[in-house]
Amino acid sequence: MLQLFTHSVCLQHDPGPGHAESPARLRAVLEALDQDRFATIDRVEAPRVTREQLLRVHTPAHVDRILAITPESDTVRLDEDTLMSPASAEAGLRAAGAVVAAVDAVMTGRATRAFCAVRPPGHHATPDTAMGFCLFNNIAVGAAHALAAHGLKRVAIADFDVHHGNGTQDIFQREPRVLFISSHQQPLYPGTGNANEQGVGNVINAPLSPGEGSYEFRTLWNDVLLPKLHAFKPQLVLVSAGFDAHQRDPLANLELQSEDYAWITERLVDLAHAHAGGKLVSTLEGGYDLQALAASASAHVSALMD
Ligand SMILES: [Zn+2]
Repeated sequence: MLQLFTHSVCLQHDPGPGHAESPARLRAVLEALDQDRFATIDRVEAPRVTREQLLRVHTPAHVDRILAITPESDTVRLDEDTLMSPASAEAGLRAAGAVVAAVDAVMTGRATRAFCAVRPPGHHATPDTAMGFCLFNNIAVGAAHALAAHGLKRVAIADFDVHHGNGTQDIFQREPRVLFISSHQQPLYPGTGNANEQGVGNVINAPLSPGEGSYEFRTLWNDVLLPKLHAFKPQLVLVSAGFDAHQRDPLANLELQSEDYAWITERLVDLAHAHAGGKLVSTLEGGYDLQALAASASAHVSALMD
């Protein structure tokens, strides 16, 4: 059983005209998931994350700063890329809350797998900084919840967004109960993610070069990253699902096709079945070409249903 967590306020977070991380992204994903073949998915309204849940990975100052920004109109700029509109703080609470609720759903058996169709994305947000379109680190909040509320000892985070999940790495680089594995383009924003950044042995960074595509991506995951994930024997598999390594994406230069997202998802589902009773929670990160995003997210969710 697949559950889909989302909230209408995630469509109201609006960084402004011309911004790549637009409400149209989530609209494209939700429209794609409206097709008949997705009719059996159980749709759930994402709750708000609690302050306690956020404070497992963020500083009180960061949480207070984000929640204090509630412009009555227009946008407030946090950095060059990251802006907040009137609904943004609420969208941030629901996006992180979706992942927490999804973790609860799979841990209690209400669902086997879950996909969180939310924005703003999260994997660039560090303990004390919003950056790269991200306010709170949704996947990290979910992982920390799995450790604290469900007592898990081994949680894996697989991040195939084309950008390095610097925030997730920052949060967990001294936490051996979490294995963070990322493939990403280098050089590219945010500039981190060198192979020599290894945390306490729990961080694996696997850069790809501009122009590389399906073959290099699949070889890397097959030969290097999936074996590391299997050796870790995760009790829960979390996925930072960004679709911006697609050939059509305007923000990066990898050459993946939507079928590659079905392929990696099938392998992550196999990983979850091998060690975690099938338990897997995925959340939307990047993906900025609307057509590629819709096709790739559909491929991802189809593979999660099987
Ligand atoms: Zn990205």
